[in-house]
Amino acid sequence: MRIDKILEEKGFGSRKTVKRLIQRKVVLVDGEAVTNGSFNVEGRLHQVTVQGAPISGFPHQYVMLNKPAGVVTALTDATCETVLDLINDRDKTEGLYPVGRLDRDTEGLLLLTDNGQLGYQLLIPDKKVSKVYEVTTKEPLETTDIAAFAAGIVFIGGEMCKPAQLEIVDAHRARLSLSEGKFHQVKKMFLAVGKKVVHLKRIAMGPLELDETLPLGSYRSLTQQELQLLK
Ligand code: URA
Repeated sequence: MRIDKILEEKGFGSRKTVKRLIQRKVVLVDGEAVTNGSFNVEGRLHQVTVQGAPISGFPHQYVMLNKPAGVVTALTDATCETVLDLINDRDKTEGLYPVGRLDRDTEGLLLLTDNGQLGYQLLIPDKKVSKVYEVTTKEPLETTDIAAFAAGIVFIGGEMCKPAQLEIVDAHRARLSLSEGKFHQVKKMFLAVGKKVVHLKRIAMGPLELDETLPLGSYRSLTQQELQLLK
């Protein structure tokens, strides 16, 4: 994480104040004065002092991204823009990665963090963290679909899914809540009942809900309340 951002978050003042501290050469990393606020520091690897006082407990980063379609959930990609490319360099910490994945054409809630332990906890099947999706289908939905999802969908290839809650919003739109994370799960579940998904958006992951005021492609840090819900 950038040294100026860490010091801001640690309460050393505004960006301008922190810049002045750096100019005064009182911010040292491993004993050397830092000359640029963009200097990347990793809590585990570096020792930081400000006016001689050691700084510890670097905060982890937790980012909520409203993922747009057309962007891949990966750290790097040879041809496509990635979700990491949507994060400004200033906000990127060492080890920031997406928790779980959304397909390239899926929109909505994606959490990124450099806290590997929390990310892992949210993904392990034992924890049964629910994910909620808004789905639009090409073919009209039928009330019998609700029971089929509740009973446990069997993919066309024969793989069984756990029971899931389907709520029909109108002829082509539904809200689906499930606790698994199989590859292309939502699309395959709907295909199993004869419907093609034409639009998919994740709106919640466990207790974390998408902030609908975030424009597509934008992100923000989680609030303290959101973070408490996840821990
Ligand atoms: N299920 C899908 O089919 N795609 C996603 O992106 C997420 C869940």
